[in-house]
Amino acid sequence: MSDDFTQRATELVEAGRFLYQRGMVPATSGNFSAKLDDGTLAVTVSGRHKGKLAVADIMRVNDKGESLDGRRPSAETLLHVQIYSRTNARSVLHPHSVNATLLSKLTTGHLVLQDYELLKAFPGVDTHECRVTVPIFNNDQNIGRLADQVDTYMTVQPEPVFGYLINGHGFYTWGENIESALRHVEAFEFLFECEMRIRGKSK
Ligand SMILES: [Zn+2]
Repeated sequence: MSDDFTQRATELVEAGRFLYQRGMVPATSGNFSAKLDDGTLAVTVSGRHKGKLAVADIMRVNDKGESLDGRRPSAETLLHVQIYSRTNARSVLHPHSVNATLLSKLTTGHLVLQDYELLKAFPGVDTHECRVTVPIFNNDQNIGRLADQVDTYMTVQPEPVFGYLINGHGFYTWGENIESALRHVEAFEFLFECEMRIRGKSK
């Protein structure tokens, strides 16, 4: 294994612990990935508990999401592949938080986040006076078809996309490295919590 793989895999293991402690990847849900220097991806294997990952639970796939070591990657690997193909992301994180799951059911089409100081956590945003649209896609067990929907949206959308929700499921966000992808997860989760409370749906 290359040093690059081991380093990224170690960071993904740590990200899993962090997100599990915050209740964002319950019951083996969620999946994580990072792009390696050679263009292949380090991705969580299918079905592992994300709070108890070891480096051995991270595998490699090529830029089409095909296994390079015979193991089965996370079921949603094609969604990661789509994001890497359209953005300069080097890491993609997919939590299944309660707030994201509920908000996606309470909102139709897209969620608008506006006038929040924490929007400055996202790249290129330097004032709270902005509007970030988070699209909500219908859940689909056909991941290739879902990835196509996301790809079409990103192709026609003139504004930068920092993440998206899947109805009744969770959210995807990404960053230029694992640390920034984690920052975006935390920012979205905070903003989703605010939006839930505005709707009178707080815990
Ligand atoms: Zn999922």
